Amino acid sequence: MTFDTTKAKHFINGAWVNPRNEKRREVINPATEEAAGLVAIGTVEEIDEAVSAARKAFSAWSVSTREERTALFGRAIEALQRRSEELARAVSLEMGSPYEFSKNVQAMCGVWHMGVALELLKTYSFEEKMGTTMVFKEPIGVCAVITPWNWPVNQLACKVAPALAAGCTVVVKPADISPLSAIIFAECIEEAGFPPGVFNLITGPGAVLGSALSSHPDVDMVSFTGSTAAGIQVALDAAPTVKRVSQELGGKSANILLDDESFADAVAAGTASCFSNSGQTCVAPTRMLVPEHRMAEAITIAERVALETIVGDPFDSMSSMGPVASKKQFDAVQRYIQIGMEEGAELVAGGLGRPEGLSRGFYVKPTVFANVLPEMRIAREEIFGPILAIIGYKSEDHAVHIANDSVFGLSGYVTAKNLTQARVIAKRLRTGMVHLNGAAPDPFAPFGGYKQSGNGREWGRFGLEEFLETKAVMGYEG
Ligand code: NAD
Repeated sequence: MTFDTTKAKHFINGAWVNPRNEKRREVINPATEEAAGLVAIGTVEEIDEAVSAARKAFSAWSVSTREERTALFGRAIEALQRRSEELARAVSLEMGSPYEFSKNVQAMCGVWHMGVALELLKTYSFEEKMGTTMVFKEPIGVCAVITPWNWPVNQLACKVAPALAAGCTVVVKPADISPLSAIIFAECIEEAGFPPGVFNLITGPGAVLGSALSSHPDVDMVSFTGSTAAGIQVALDAAPTVKRVSQELGGKSANILLDDESFADAVAAGTASCFSNSGQTCVAPTRMLVPEHRMAEAITIAERVALETIVGDPFDSMSSMGPVASKKQFDAVQRYIQIGMEEGAELVAGGLGRPEGLSRGFYVKPTVFANVLPEMRIAREEIFGPILAIIGYKSEDHAVHIANDSVFGLSGYVTAKNLTQARVIAKRLRTGMVHLNGAAPDPFAPFGGYKQSGNGREWGRFGLEEFLETKAVMGYEG
């Protein structure tokens, strides 16, 4: 199964244009290690053309009416819905998540975030009177959108939707690994009829194109999601032109299970959540914190979940876990499993190598380490694979200390029968988000992290406001 290679083009100023560079980049299907499609390799000149188109389009788009934007969003949502199976296939081909998951979750994130932006367009007030002063919320300008491969539709949509709703224009640079779903997303935007230049897409390598965007004097903001290393480089490149940078980076989220909780469900759900999307989710609960005296109980349940996880072909409906997204990711995960064993953590399930019966593809074993110490690297560094670290704690204070003893601060999880107690712990966690008792993500709630997990917030009203500038007009009321 491959992707239509005639789509190896850039989308600039409302048209699919042939790339200057005649070479194409193969998109590798991580399940087969074979090419799933070919995409264009963008150049700095094409970035300049896209930014220039976005700049030209900004003057009219920034003052378009709510009604105009609302109608376009409605049509884009309709196109995304109609093409959701194609989108899902592209996601599974490019980054390996099981097709059912791609269809029901990954692909639907486009509709989700566009829908949220549509709702906000109907209700959000872009001005506020403060005495005799009027405060206007205005679009910040031309925005560079740089996205990763782990949730390719979600991360594209959660930036593009609020940016366009705010009246900004965008130049999108999707991850080199996962450009196929981004091309379909762009086609949906095109079909909806957004004016030329409002949305532009350039595929190609991050270091060159990402840097050209971050340092571009005519780009007003960069919205970035990805690794901490690349996020830091974006901020450095953006600094000389003093543009706004929003960063959604890594995480090492703790899932604190309190002693009053029945572990049968809580440990099983926490382990499954860590393995979901092959562990390649920035908010994955990768550190499970359990009372020390219940470690054995937690081990038995987590081991069972790991053994019951069916790893295999993303297009086989029996598979609950596909491969990780790339050879680079496979190697990184193997390295961390080796590190965990060398550090003396107890390997409960999984381990090095591919799961039995799989000789090809970037498949890794769902792995559980127990009796992990908070100072071990597998408890501190983001692995981005299906690797769970179970850590024992002595008291609630100790659990909170371990949870907060991290350079990251993206999400936290508290699982407890006593909701009042869970709420108290939620307040003590130095993280941008906390999920109590497995609460699902809320598309209207702010998404983002403390500390090295990033700057700024995405999703909902907070996500929209990232793309707005604030203007105070004094004496407005005379
Ligand atoms: P990455 O950070 O290199 O890539 C993310 C995006 O940034 C891609 O579009 C890439 O092309 C672009 N990019 C790369 N270098 C850039 C630069 N200098 N300037 C601007 N843009 C640049 O991610 P990766 O190499 O694919 O993955 C490495 C690690 O990052 C993973 O192992 C994982 O730990 C982490 N990661 C985190 C998230 C997240 O959601 N927090 C997502 C993806 C990867």
